[in-house]
Amino acid sequence: AGMRIAIDGPAAAGKSTIAKLVAKKLGYTYIDTGAMYRAITYKVLQSAIDLRNEEEITRLIAQTEIELQPDEQVQKVLLDGIEVTDAIRSHEVTTNVSAIAALTSVRDLLVAKQQNLAAESSVVMDGRDIGTAVLPEAELKIFMTASVEERAERRLLEEQKRGMKSDYETLKREISERDRADSERKISPLKKAEDAITIDTTGKTIEEVTNSIVEYAEK
Ligand code: C5P
Repeated sequence: AGMRIAIDGPAAAGKSTIAKLVAKKLGYTYIDTGAMYRAITYKVLQSAIDLRNEEEITRLIAQTEIELQPDEQVQKVLLDGIEVTDAIRSHEVTTNVSAIAALTSVRDLLVAKQQNLAAESSVVMDGRDIGTAVLPEAELKIFMTASVEERAERRLLEEQKRGMKSDYETLKREISERDRADSERKISPLKKAEDAITIDTTGKTIEEVTNSIVEYAEK
């Protein structure tokens, strides 16, 4: 088996930006597990199914194909063969994803998919439960945090760059609410694995954080 690096932490802590760079430096595959939960959420929202109807949702996702395509800039996400890379970053998906991610059938399906991907090559995988549930045997586990103010600030810049009309206070509220929901759910809540290394990225540059993880990986 290859090398496995798990990166977990609260929303907008910089996980995907850093994970992508670490993967590139080490020549590993980057896997954005949040994109998978977002893609399922997008599909449920597009259907007429009620978000609380787990039975219907289970049926729907059984016939769903999610593909992550590595790309230089952004990792492309294909849902049933159609590109949804930008669509899964919408405000509507973001505010509903935690509810969908709390469903047993959704997690069972995606965790199995993530474990299969990790069996194929060396990976850097980011999410909420990678070190605790998806890859408990990962060689390196990082728990990445940052102050909620800095996380809201970074997310604001990111969304403005994508042409979205966002405001700081709304983002800060949304991020805190999502962290609360993700930490309080019953199955594999957002939680630091006991053997994870905590990195607080507040005030640190992308390069600094990337380099420190690469150093840990090469030890
Ligand atoms: O990482 P990102 O913010 O895109 O994740 C979106 C949502 O997907 C999270 O807020 C969480 O509800 C869910 N998620 C999860 N487990 C993961 C990754 C994401 O429950 N491993």
